[in-house]
Amino acid sequence: MKKIYLDYAATTPTHPKVVKAMLPYFSDAFGNPSSIHSLGQETKAALEEARGKVAHLIGSRSEEIVFTSGGTEADNFAVKGVAYANRQKGNHIITSAIEHHAVLEPCKFLEGQGFEVTYLPVDKYGLVDPEDVRKAITGKTILISVMHANNEIGTIEPIAEIARIAREQEICLHTDAVQTTGHIPVNVDDLGVDLLSISAHKLYGPKGVGALYIRKGTRIVPFMHGGEQERGRRASTENIPAIVGFGKAVEIAEGEMKDEMERLTFLRDELIQGLFERIEGIYLNGHPSLRLPNNINISVEFVEGESMAISMDLEGIAASTGSACASSAVEASHVLLALGLPAWLCHGSLRLSLGRETTREDIERVLEVLPRIVTRLRAMSPFLKSKA
Ligand code: PLP
Repeated sequence: MKKIYLDYAATTPTHPKVVKAMLPYFSDAFGNPSSIHSLGQETKAALEEARGKVAHLIGSRSEEIVFTSGGTEADNFAVKGVAYANRQKGNHIITSAIEHHAVLEPCKFLEGQGFEVTYLPVDKYGLVDPEDVRKAITGKTILISVMHANNEIGTIEPIAEIARIAREQEICLHTDAVQTTGHIPVNVDDLGVDLLSISAHKLYGPKGVGALYIRKGTRIVPFMHGGEQERGRRASTENIPAIVGFGKAVEIAEGEMKDEMERLTFLRDELIQGLFERIEGIYLNGHPSLRLPNNINISVEFVEGESMAISMDLEGIAASTGSACASSAVEASHVLLALGLPAWLCHGSLRLSLGRETTREDIERVLEVLPRIVTRLRAMSPFLKSKA
């Protein structure tokens, strides 16, 4: 049975060309980029080449890119770094209710340190209303952080409009672009952001490496204190093999983006349409068109997401549910709850995220397997029985 991977939003396989590019930096080219000898200078050149590639992809200058250990660190760096650097100016942060935990948790942490955070609601599609951002701004607001696209429902947020408001009020704007960079066009000037988070493993690069774009002139406290690496903003010897791999992944993504966007949008829409034709009582979560090309998130009446995902796995298909298992209880996703979905529909959600290896045959197989699974699970459903 061919395995079908439909969880690209969780992580992507490292591209073979990326692995190949990384390998020499584990062995022959092992120098410390801070060393003055030629071995060091060799890795320093590789580091700067990778930085240039990331900068090129998002339309920034090389010196505005700081490499991090991933998207989570980039988000933490942005939120805490700007908050601490601007403490004299104010203590208010605006974010959205559907951010990734990598933004929500630093915000919660800062609340414990005397900062105030406004968590903006979203509409039924998961969109933040820029006017809500404007209304939430106070004389103490120092940071706005709204994600570029949501990782669960794929909704793409109106960042450029939010940026116009932030600019007028001279407030720093961060966006978590972990799910968009390398997948759809991301340009820091078009978006008008001051900070932008990226993660390599979401774009066929290695895990444990990412970047934070920091617009020149942005006030931010360093994330790690120690050596002078990354212009004194992120101390520690750079993870050169991972950074080289990140650069290679970015280069490949830039070349393939246009075609992949078209191909995946087509497959996504075919799968959505096919599911709606074959299964009754299903809902599409997220925006119908302002949506990542690879994201499908559905709620299925009278079926648990966990059961669907496990049943799919037994059929060789890897998918994900909108619910997160927290210890013994299954918590409904904060994103789906923010859309206004009742808890029982949140628990019946399934995310299918497509990627480079996804084929038409894979879509056909899902369309054959999933309706069958739903019928079987519904036959056992106590919810459906109690309704009948
Ligand atoms: N932000 C978003 C939107 C994500 O989807 C993820 C990963 O799931 C992260 C941040 C965290 O990235 P990383 O796994 O590189 O720490």
